[in-house]
Amino acid sequence: MNQQYAPPKYGENAFNCPTCSAYTQQQWYEIKLFPSNILKYEATAGLREFDSSTVQSWDVNKENGYLADNLSAVSKCFVCEEVSVWIEGKLVYPNASLAPLPSPDMPEDVAKIYTEARTVSALSSTASTALLRLALEKLLPQVGAKKAKIDVMIGELVSKGLSKEVEKALDSLRVIGNEAVHPGTIDLQDNTEVSIALFKLLNVVVDRMITQPNEINEIYKLIPENKLKGIEDRNSKALKTQKNG
Ligand SMILES: [Zn+2]
Repeated sequence: MNQQYAPPKYGENAFNCPTCSAYTQQQWYEIKLFPSNILKYEATAGLREFDSSTVQSWDVNKENGYLADNLSAVSKCFVCEEVSVWIEGKLVYPNASLAPLPSPDMPEDVAKIYTEARTVSALSSTASTALLRLALEKLLPQVGAKKAKIDVMIGELVSKGLSKEVEKALDSLRVIGNEAVHPGTIDLQDNTEVSIALFKLLNVVVDRMITQPNEINEIYKLIPENKLKGIEDRNSKALKTQKNG
């Protein structure tokens, strides 16, 4: 099954760490200007912890227009202990992706390209979409298609009884992916939502074509030999009736 992915969010208690990807708690600090007690008109910058549970209720700050009056904030991951830097409520370091993590059942060579697409997704939707198309091209021969052009491979899988939903997912990845490679009518540059949705689609395809069949086969293996024979007999009987009828 796909893991849930919680993209990094300003002030949030826990999310998937942009450095190590683990879903874990975050310790928040903020760099603030404090009025100096000695020299009334000067201010000093200081680091202090803040309670992330209060962030949701903060109003937009009048001076800087975002949900804090700090100069910048830092969140520290409990797992890898690396920090992420936030300015004006936006994550500026490390370069984080809003795209979900690859399904654990995704074949290794496909997941490698998927991860590369994730890495560039915050910078370029076009680049990430083009990479996802490549990932799809690598995936299809591993789920039953003969190596060919993507369009042909999808056609082959459809002729073998692919479900309509998976066909739609594959064609969305193919057609939108083509737009990234040969620009046409869909503007990917301003369409982060579409490019993030494509990551989800590739995971859906892996779930439906790899994870679910594997799960079903695991259970099916538990059926005793004589019962399997019964199933076989039933199917051949049904087939005969169909032919005669
Ligand atoms: Zn981490």
